[in-house]
Formats: sequence, structure tokens, C-alpha cells
Amino acid sequence: MNEADSQRAAALLWPAFEPGDSPETADVVLINTCSVRDKPQQKLLSELGRLRRIKERKGSMIIGIMGCVAQQMKDEIFKRAPWVDLVVGPDGIDDIPQLVAEAQQGQHGASLRLLRHAPSLDRSVEVKTQRSSALVNVMKGCDKFCTYCIVPYTRGREASRPPHVVMDEIHNLVQQGVFDITLLGQNVTAYGNDLSPRTNLNTLVTNILKEAPSIQRIRFITSHPMDTKDDTLELFALPQVATYFHLPLQAGSDRVLKTMGRGYTFRQYMDIVEKVRKIRPDVAMASDFIVGFPGETREDFLQTMDAIETVGYEGIFSFVYSPRPFTKAAGFEDPIPRAEKLVWLKELQARQNEITQQKFADMVGTVQPTIIEGPSSRDPNEMMGRTSCHKVVNLPLPKSAIGTMIDVRITEAMSNSLRGEAVAPDADQ
Ligand code: SAH
Ligand code: SF4
Repeated sequence: MNEADSQRAAALLWPAFEPGDSPETADVVLINTCSVRDKPQQKLLSELGRLRRIKERKGSMIIGIMGCVAQQMKDEIFKRAPWVDLVVGPDGIDDIPQLVAEAQQGQHGASLRLLRHAPSLDRSVEVKTQRSSALVNVMKGCDKFCTYCIVPYTRGREASRPPHVVMDEIHNLVQQGVFDITLLGQNVTAYGNDLSPRTNLNTLVTNILKEAPSIQRIRFITSHPMDTKDDTLELFALPQVATYFHLPLQAGSDRVLKTMGRGYTFRQYMDIVEKVRKIRPDVAMASDFIVGFPGETREDFLQTMDAIETVGYEGIFSFVYSPRPFTKAAGFEDPIPRAEKLVWLKELQARQNEITQQKFADMVGTVQPTIIEGPSSRDPNEMMGRTSCHKVVNLPLPKSAIGTMIDVRITEAMSNSLRGEAVAPDADQ
């Protein structure tokens, strides 16, 4: 989501400014920030120290902080780092050009109001891209208030972008050659509930595919189990919908799920997994997990270990619980020491790595439609592509293949990626 917000900021600043690749040569540096866990905030403060030295050396450079840490720290940023020129929360992105212009006149400025109806909701921007894949925000904010989560406080209330605005952004991307779209929202499965007339994710995706038939792949993240209804799952019957379903479970224990305020039990979660697998048997399931939530016992944690076996995830994102300001859970009793939580996290990640390895190995010999994204990071003479289930495949191909979708036979499973070879179009005939 931050990546999409950064692209929006760049599009709004263009053509007065164009993207650069180093603060050493930049006139404006914008840092986008995340405050879901504590570490990124500390990283911001050390990065600001580095930028201060560059600014002093160069004599002038506008420095702006955007995103959730900006929203959370507000004016404190100016106090702790007076060399910062602008501070902009998630709803203030559209104010950035004005604030940069004011900073050029020597003024410090901030845009930190959280709005029920942010201007970015109704206003489409033309993001410039040369890639075949793109991110499109369809919603902002979150109303769920999980007891551990800062997002509703930093991104504000849930609000959907009207379908015609989403479509305008997609048409602009498609005209530039994009054929792989990821729709973004904290809870994309709640899309349209707040719009009048009311709509839903199924209608949005179906209409996008009708109006932009050149789109070959579409994904949506993140889904919330509480809002995932049958019509969302039916989308997996469409061939363009990616074989990838990110459905965060967070914990395997019903007791912990309840204190987290997630609104479902593990059994209800499994009902969704079983339903989607009936529609698309090879769907790759992915999830987020929090380990060591306040009050979580070893027995609760072992239910998370069981859950990853039962579901059989292709991959997970897992984190030790991090107490966040404003949240309910920050006041809960939390007797388990962090060192022990880290041991649990390692245990979860080690077992998941084995499961992931098995999933990778199961793909050897299959043919996967793969979008070639660019040179491989390991060997620039090879290309890197992504399968529909979002796995990285490296393979020998000429540079001219970048931005195309081709069939790839998987030849080998590595620890974090696959190796493959292009299947000639008539090879199986
Ligand atoms: N809206 C999405 C997730 C957004 S935040 C959802 O509900 O699934 C991304 C992930 O960060 C969460 O899924 C959660 O696993 C993790 N996270 C959020 N708050 C956290 C906290 N206080 N400590 C540790 N992890 C957290
Ligand atoms: Fe945070 Fe819960 Fe909203 Fe996800 S659903 S953004 S975890 S409050």
C-alpha cells in the first residue's frame, strides 16, 4: 500500500519533478513510513540523521515524511528533526505538490488531518510506468479495530474508491502496456460496502476484466476472513484471477483470535479455505501471523503450529507481537518474555520453511504461465518471472522477454525461488 501511495506522490509531482535514484542528487526526498510494528519508526529516525548530513553538505534539499509514522508522530517530527520540511499523513498525499512549493519558499508545512472522505478517493492519477504489473488502491483505512493494530488510527476509517475512479486508473495503466493488476486495500473484501449504490469486490473485478480485456492477471490483497463471502470466492473461478489468496489468520487459537477481536474461529476460517479449494484446487494460500500476543500461552501457540499444517500455506508473513500506541492490547497483561516469543517465532518459521519447500518441490515438472519482470537479481544474464501463485522463477531468456507472459516448465526448486525453462509455444503439439 505504501508503494502505491509513493507512486501516487510521484505522479502528482510530475512533471515538475521526476523520480531520481539517490538523495545525493535529489531536490526533494520523500520518505514513506509504516508504523504497523515498532522497528520502522526507529529506522526513520536514523535515516533522518543520514539525510541531515546530506542536506548540510549540499546546502539545500527538501525533506518530507509521509505515511503512518508521520500521522502518528505529527509535529514531534519537526521537534526531533527540525531539518524536515514537510510531514504528510496518508490522507494528505494530494497536498504534497503544494507543500513542496511552500518548502521551496522556505516554509515548513504539514497535512495531517484524517478525513472520512480523502480527496485521493475520488481523484484518479496517471501513474507513469514501463512495467507490465501495477498496484491500484481501491480502498483506504480500516474499521475493524483488531486490538493489536494501529492502522485504524493512522489510516482512518474504511472508505472505497468509486468504481469509475478505479477504472480510470486502470485504463491509464493498460494503455502503457500493464496487463497484471493488484488491487489493494486493508480489507479488499469489504470493498463497496460504504458506496452508494452499494457494490462489492466481485462486481468490481468482473467489470474490470470486461472493460479491460487485455488484463491477463488480477490479484487482490488483503482479504479479511470476516468479510470473505461466497461471491468473493467465486472470483477464483475466473482464469485471470491469480492462483494466490492472502487470507490472514493471525493465530490458530480461538481464545487468542477472540482477544485479538478478529471476529472468526479457526473452524470458520477453514470453511473458507475448503470452499476456495473446491473452486480452485491449486490455489496458493498465504497468511500473516502474530506470535506472542498478550496472554498467549504455549498451548495457544501450538495451535498456530497445527494451523499451518492443516491449511498447508505456500508462505506466511510472521511477526512477534509489537505493542502499539492507541491500541487496546497495549494495556493487556503480557507475561511471556520477548526472548521466549522469539523462540516460538523461529519455531513457526522453521516449520513453515519446510512446508514451503515441499510446495516448491511439488511444482517441479509443471508448466506455469509466468510474467517476466526483469533481470534476475542473482545472475543479470537470466530473467526473473512470477507465477500466478506469486513465486519467483529464474530462467535463461533474452531481455526482450521482459514484460511478456510465457509458459515456463519448472525444472528445480531452490530455497526461495524456482528455476525453469521457457516452453516453446508448439512444444506439446
Ligand atoms: N488488514 C490486514 C493487515 C494489515 S497489517 C489484515 O487484517 O490482515 C499487516 C500485518 O501486520 C497484520 O496482518 C499483522 O499480522 C501484522 N501486525 C499488525 N499489527 C501488529 C502488531 N501490533 N504486532 C505485530 N504484528 C502486527
Ligand atoms: Fe489492522 Fe485488523 Fe484492520 Fe487488518 S483488519 S488493518 S489487522 S485493524
